[in-house]
Amino acid sequence: MRFHNASGRVFIRQSWLNDVVMCPERARLGATMPTMRSGSDATIMGTAVHHAIECALNTPDMGLDVMQQHALSKFTELRVTESWKQTNIDPDKYEVFIGSMCESWHNDIAPNVEFGGQTEYKFAYPLGIEIAGWSVWCEGTIDYIDPKGVVYDWKTASRAYNAREKQATAIQPTVYAGAVAALGWSEFPVDFRYGVMIRNEKPKAQIVRVRRDEAHLRWLRHTLKPIMHTAIALGEDRNWQMNDTHNLCSERWCSYWSVCKGAFISDIELSVPEQ
Ligand code: SF4
Repeated sequence: MRFHNASGRVFIRQSWLNDVVMCPERARLGATMPTMRSGSDATIMGTAVHHAIECALNTPDMGLDVMQQHALSKFTELRVTESWKQTNIDPDKYEVFIGSMCESWHNDIAPNVEFGGQTEYKFAYPLGIEIAGWSVWCEGTIDYIDPKGVVYDWKTASRAYNAREKQATAIQPTVYAGAVAALGWSEFPVDFRYGVMIRNEKPKAQIVRVRRDEAHLRWLRHTLKPIMHTAIALGEDRNWQMNDTHNLCSERWCSYWSVCKGAFISDIELSVPEQ
């Protein structure tokens, strides 16, 4: 959530919205303690693969070996420049997984993608609602929009996506569909596709299609109103509601663990008693 006083606008990103829905306090801490935010081995691997995909989309006919070199050199750079935590991924497999994810995109996803579109498209558009005198805008960056207005987001994931679940609840396709409709790239219904690469030794890819209509955007506005009213009324100096009932609430997966749940609950209290 970013306030722009001169224009009276408040800008939100889909990643912030996802955080708010999962744990409001995590979204607040993300805004107020940005230096604490650290990625993981999974996130820097994903960034490296994204970089290679962007290079491939902007250089048609790029061979797989060149694409893999782009990803691996970016990964080497990010290991040094980024703040990241090791998770449960075997470090000996980092480069194998990166090569495999590039291969799955190159061989199984790219042949289904129309080249010649726009990579890393930055957007901002008004949602058409005003909260406490602030005009609410969405902003963000779309991985790829093809020449026909089909929207793509690349995902590196530990397991396959569930299309039914994404169609029913995913926020990102709605925010991005609103962007391409507002900015003239496409009309509703918007065709949004996840290009998913599974973190695996054996290349495995998936294209998951999600359809977004104007009704989804109306639902987004409706759900956003109480979130924004609460966020603006509370301000960012007081704690927001905490939700620890999901598996990202842990020392490994939440950057703010040490100033939140970890300040109260140690490994001893987390350990499961003998059953
Ligand atoms: S530690 Fe848990 S409750 Fe606290 S911000 Fe992180 S996810 Fe939310």
